[in-house]
Amino acid sequence: MTVRQVRLFGDPVLTMAADPVTDFDKSLRTLVRDLSETLRDQRGSGLAAPQIGVPLRVFVFDVEGVRGHLVNPTLDFPSTEEQTGPEGCLSIPGLYYDTRRRLHAVGRGVDQHGRPAQVVGTDELARCLQHETDHLDGVLFLDRLDPTTRRTAMRDIRVKLSPHPIRGLLR
Ligand SMILES: [Zn+2]
Repeated sequence: MTVRQVRLFGDPVLTMAADPVTDFDKSLRTLVRDLSETLRDQRGSGLAAPQIGVPLRVFVFDVEGVRGHLVNPTLDFPSTEEQTGPEGCLSIPGLYYDTRRRLHAVGRGVDQHGRPAQVVGTDELARCLQHETDHLDGVLFLDRLDPTTRRTAMRDIRVKLSPHPIRGLLR
C-alpha cells in the first residue's frame, strides 16, 4: 500500500470532471487501496481519486466506522430534508465552513470488481457521499457555500494556502 500525495486547492485536476472507470483490473484495485491508505493516513472521512491526481470516478469513505468505496457512483436523495454543518476538505486543509447538504443520500455504483454497490447515508455519511461525488464532477465544497461564506473562505485560502502547491509540503 502507498500513501499518495493529496493535491491541494489550485491544482487543475480538482476542477476537472473525472472519467468513468471502464477497466476493472489490478490497477483499479491498487487505486482503491492507495485511496484507503491515504485517507487513513490523513484521518479524513472521504477521499476521491482526483485528489491524488487520478481523474477517475472512484472515492473511498470512512465515516464513524462505516468504510468502503464506490466506483462510477450516482446519487439519489430520498427526501428534500437538508442539514447545515461544518465541512472541510483534505485538498483545502485546516479550513471548515458551514455547508448546506441534503440530510439523506443514497450512492449507487459498483465496487472494484464491477459488482453493484450501494451506500445509504444520513447526516455525516450523507454529507460525505455528496462531497466526494462533487469531487468527481470537479466541484469543491467551496462552490456549495453561500456567497458571504464563500467570500470569507476565498480570503482565508489566499492567506493560508499557497496558490502553487509545493510537493511534499503537507508531510
Ligand atoms: Zn474534499
